[in-house]
Amino acid sequence: MANQRATCKGSPSANYYSNGCRCAGCREAWRVFKEEDKATKNKRGTKRDTPMVEHDAFTREQILAAREL
Ligand SMILES: [Zn+2]
Repeated sequence: MANQRATCKGSPSANYYSNGCRCAGCREAWRVFKEEDKATKNKRGTKRDTPMVEHDAFTREQILAAREL
């Protein structure tokens, strides 16, 4: 055999996929693993409390109002 691949032998996992097993179970496990990885990264990245935007817009309006006077 020229191409030696790891096989999960009936117990698919993302780890076996990275080792070379491409059975349906391992592909699915890998997909789920990737999705979860993405989800955790997104959760960590959604940290946007920006009350500054509203404040900034308010200030711009105040400047315009001040100019008209
Ligand atoms: Zn497999």
